Amino acid sequence: MTKEKLNIGVLALQGCVDRHRPHIIAAGASFCAVKTPEKFQEIDALIIPGGESTTMLKLIDTFGLEEDLKKVFAEKPVWGICAGSILMADKVINPIQKSFHMMPVTMERNGYGRQLESHNAVVDGFEVSFIRAPVVKAVNDNVEILASHDGAPVWLRSGRYMVTTFHPELTLEYPSPMHQAFVHLTQEFS
Ligand code: GLN
Repeated sequence: MTKEKLNIGVLALQGCVDRHRPHIIAAGASFCAVKTPEKFQEIDALIIPGGESTTMLKLIDTFGLEEDLKKVFAEKPVWGICAGSILMADKVINPIQKSFHMMPVTMERNGYGRQLESHNAVVDGFEVSFIRAPVVKAVNDNVEILASHDGAPVWLRSGRYMVTTFHPELTLEYPSPMHQAFVHLTQEFS
């Protein structure tokens, strides 16, 4: 069954939330900022935005959201961006940190080093921003690599899950190919 208009939630605890709105709308879906379990039930898919993964983990704990989020992770498409991709990884290094083991990859936090902490690059023909981005160090066989940059995968998919180590939402050209792909992925699973 295909729903007429999909509702894409962006986890609004911390980080870059609102800039997703025009991309999601241009991709033909509705945008919804979510931070309560009631709202989690209204969405068809979730974006965990870029920000600071340690702060997000603390806020998930402070607001007691872990179990409700795990239910969303078990049922719905999820896209993790930068800090969000770190939360979704199977293993996090530099330093070792808690994660939700959704995407069978190893992520090195701040993997581009100090000088290159932030830079723009063209990925899949679209300019995107790497902001203190992680680097994917190891990838399991069942992960599809959708794009690479500087010799490392930066856009990956595994079943209902998608991760980008970069931010596509800061570019003012709507929708980004990544938002379009995530709305298509959500259609597949709705
Ligand atoms: N360096 C941040 C972290 O480790 C991620 C940065 C981002 O999301 N832009 O959580």
